[in-house]
Amino acid sequence: MAQDTYARLAGDKVELSAVSGAFKPCRYCGGRTAYVAEGVNHHAAALRCLSCDHHHAWLSRDHLAAMAAQKGAVA
Ligand SMILES: [Zn+2]
Repeated sequence: MAQDTYARLAGDKVELSAVSGAFKPCRYCGGRTAYVAEGVNHHAAALRCLSCDHHHAWLSRDHLAAMAAQKGAVA
């Protein structure tokens, strides 16, 4: 279930426009776009900076599900 959700979102771009929290701009290069990458261990997925490819944040299973639901609503 979690893997299916990840597969739907893998490589998707996420805007990093928040002032704080997981969606603030990249702390290495200031980039404002991240993409969904594979998670490690208990992490459902990760966000990586599109510009410098540094790890940005982990995404929980709930967060992935919320993103998938949002994507489904848009598509
Ligand atoms: Zn970066």
